Amino acid sequence: MKIENLTNILSDQPKYRFKQAQRAVFIDLIDDWSKSSNFPQALREKLNLECSLKINAEVFAAKDNQTTKALITLEDGLKIETVLLKHKDLRNTVCLSSQVGCSVGCSFCATGQMGFKRNLCAYEIVEQVIFFARLLQIKSQKITNVVFMGMGEPFLNYNNVIAAIKILNDNQGFNLGARKISISTCGIISGIKKLASENLQVNLAISLHAPNDILRSKLMSINKKYPLENLLSAVNDYVKRTSRKVMFEYLMIKGINDSVEHARELAVLLKNKLFMVNLIPYNQTGKYHAVEREKISAFKKVLEHYRVQVTQRYSFGGDIDAACGQLASKNK
Ligand code: SAH
Ligand code: SF4
Repeated sequence: MKIENLTNILSDQPKYRFKQAQRAVFIDLIDDWSKSSNFPQALREKLNLECSLKINAEVFAAKDNQTTKALITLEDGLKIETVLLKHKDLRNTVCLSSQVGCSVGCSFCATGQMGFKRNLCAYEIVEQVIFFARLLQIKSQKITNVVFMGMGEPFLNYNNVIAAIKILNDNQGFNLGARKISISTCGIISGIKKLASENLQVNLAISLHAPNDILRSKLMSINKKYPLENLLSAVNDYVKRTSRKVMFEYLMIKGINDSVEHARELAVLLKNKLFMVNLIPYNQTGKYHAVEREKISAFKKVLEHYRVQVTQRYSFGGDIDAACGQLASKNK
């Protein structure tokens, strides 16, 4: 798909053409301009040549019937992965990639291990949503939520991520509410500060994964640049400015960060009433191991005892390498 030059191509057309195009792409979800019946033939052909709506993707369905992964080949041949999660409560969430690979290199993450190739442009981010929206349209279903939890660090591609969110949010187009969009970051402070001043109602999640600097720096080298004290001070400011809840993601890794002591330390660290913790089961990608469900429950109980709001995430799509942290476009 290559619609970033749509505005240019339509610049010599009457103004209403852009609205029609927006409707065709984001609401009718057409995959070929020849289906835009109100456009003259010559314009349809020009758009198909210069502004293709084709998405080149391979689809993998998991046995759980809830997870579908798409391996999308971009115009330059690089590949990204994006995942659709169908929840029992009828939500359909797309887990978006913001970069090809990632430069942060967290020790537990397959994307981090593949290194960084390049940032995605805004339309390459939007394309991932459109792909699954077209797939769901066949069953008269819709995308209800979007999370930036695929490949890459969204705050290291800040401008394009925000531009993509604004395109998805546009009520003349895809019209996805900002509150239905979540950004997950490994803790890039500049991004947290900028988001606080954006006046966008999106949700912020912080990948914390450890309750102290020594452990966090071992798991995530980014912690050396943005240590916990500075990170939490930025998140506290964010909460003060926006009055929005912040989610802290905590990956449970066997024998590393899963003890009752770690849970206590975490509870003390996250005292703010607008903070929530989401415990994430580790998906096997490398040297670490997952924690048994009972042990996650015990960890959760400690947090509850300290009155920290806590939820437990279930893992989807492990058999097609579509679970969190497993995306690495290795099928290429
Ligand atoms: N770069 C951003 C967003 C992409 S990663 C971030 O780090 O937050 C999305 C989530 O998947 C993060 O919380 C990340 O820590 C988590 N994750 C990475 N590897 C994982 C693994 N092997 N198992 C489970 N979750 C993982
Ligand atoms: Fe990058 Fe996030 Fe993976 Fe860390 S967890 S390497 S920041 S994608």
